[in-house]
Amino acid sequence: MVVIGAGQAGLSSAHHLRRGGAEFAVLDAGAGAGGAWRHRWPSLRLGGVHGIHDLPGLALEEKDGARPASEVLAEYFARYEREFDLPVHRPVQVRSVRRGPDERLLVDADVGAGATGTWAARAVINATGTWTKPFVPHYPGQDAFTGRQLHVADYRGAAEFRGLRVAVVGGGISAVELLTEIAEVATTTWVTRRPPVFGDAEFTPDAGRRAVAEVDRRVRAGLPPGSVVSVTGLPPTPAVLRARDAGVLDRHPMFERITPRGLRWADGTEVEVDVLLWATGFRAALDHLRPLGLREPGGGIRMDGTRVVAEPRLHLVGYGPSASTIGANRAGRAAARDVQRLLRPSGALL
Ligand code: FAD
Repeated sequence: MVVIGAGQAGLSSAHHLRRGGAEFAVLDAGAGAGGAWRHRWPSLRLGGVHGIHDLPGLALEEKDGARPASEVLAEYFARYEREFDLPVHRPVQVRSVRRGPDERLLVDADVGAGATGTWAARAVINATGTWTKPFVPHYPGQDAFTGRQLHVADYRGAAEFRGLRVAVVGGGISAVELLTEIAEVATTTWVTRRPPVFGDAEFTPDAGRRAVAEVDRRVRAGLPPGSVVSVTGLPPTPAVLRARDAGVLDRHPMFERITPRGLRWADGTEVEVDVLLWATGFRAALDHLRPLGLREPGGGIRMDGTRVVAEPRLHLVGYGPSASTIGANRAGRAAARDVQRLLRPSGALL
């Protein structure tokens, strides 16, 4: 059996496979432990994230909220892999998953130093997250922009924007958080497609369940999962309240085109900017599954829980309704149980 990815979803799956006595390998493209957390910007502190759930069976325990989340989570995941002796192979970049001549799935990967390898597996749990697939929409004039463009995946901190004019595009939490940081050192312009909806209550478990149910409904129908903020609005987190108080949430509608030196709206208004920061989200990193032909006419992958309807040997965890640390935990458990049930009749676990 193969698990692809060693973030929260992959490690949770591995934990439950281990407990069930399965033979498996975890293939992870990262240079070290931590999943996407190891790449998050240094100013994202442990105390500033919205609630990271412990991996199953081992508490995080770190108390210092001022430490970068990237460091703390990378240490925690490394400790977790050691503690449960999880067979994580890295850096292993999976390039494709295809159907083999027998009942196995073949997982082709780059295994470092120019070498490649293929794993044959009776089942695959895919836990590749979204971090490696930043999404940037296209706007007219974008290629001729002479300033700097970057996605939040490449953001390293506000210091490099000191004294510049920065446009932040996007209506999600990362846009609001980065806007607040950058506004302390630079002039900011905030642009969103739709007027932001500020939720007036903390993100309650009930609101969470409603958001997850809506995303679950979409993927069961074979639609792309969509974003959670589109369901919940922006909850009044400390970062959102800080941004409101600082008066940086002065939102502009979407511009019509990008000019060489800035942005232009349909009514002719122009703003010059030096930097265009795309806080426009991510897509599921699933390109390696393309050989399996899973996309439905609706553009998504039809799911039944964590199982892919068109390929029951494949599970997607940390995808759609399980794209949160708590969801990833649960999905890992469900997927591990399901694949072990699937394989038990033949007694063969790989
Ligand atoms: P990842 O952590 O992205 O792990 C995927 C792993 O797969 C990586 O190690 C990657 O290297 C590997 N991989 C990818 N492609 C391949 C491939 N082709 N071959 C091999 N390996 C591959 N959620 C919360 O619940 N609470 C929070 O506070 C929170 N804060 C967040 C803050 C930010 C800025 C962002 C962007 C997200 C946040 N989230 C939060 C969402 C959270 O990141 C996810 O729910 C969860 O951590 C993702 O875990 P994952 O295992 O699905 O993916």
